[in-house]
Amino acid sequence: MVCHCSDCQVLSGSPFRHVVPADTQHFVLTGNPTVYVKVADSGNRRVQAFCPACGTPIYSSATESPTWVSIRLGCVSQRAALKPSAQIWCHSALPWLSELSSVPGSPEQQAISAALPAPEPLASARKAA
Ligand SMILES: [Zn+2]
Repeated sequence: MVCHCSDCQVLSGSPFRHVVPADTQHFVLTGNPTVYVKVADSGNRRVQAFCPACGTPIYSSATESPTWVSIRLGCVSQRAALKPSAQIWCHSALPWLSELSSVPGSPEQQAISAALPAPEPLASARKAA
């Protein structure tokens, strides 16, 4: 499932977050993640678990007696096979997302950086100059 909510955009550092819901009866985690409890505007509290060594998001869940977890797709080795089947919070989806397939791409970073135009200063940087 893809979530376009603004919390997921901020917490993932990406245009959207892709999660894999899993029943806690089938979820086993070895190690001790770092946990942050996010309080949404609605007052809902969600556990956000990260790898304490590298910061990779691992899962989120209810704070008390969770029956399911949202595994973060990025930490799943089979992620290429886990095509989303639903999207939520589409009203806050970034407006350019549907145009992404038409943006020129490259298989590696070197080639794309050479193809990019010179960056323009941000509006705030221009005012300060
Ligand atoms: Zn979300």
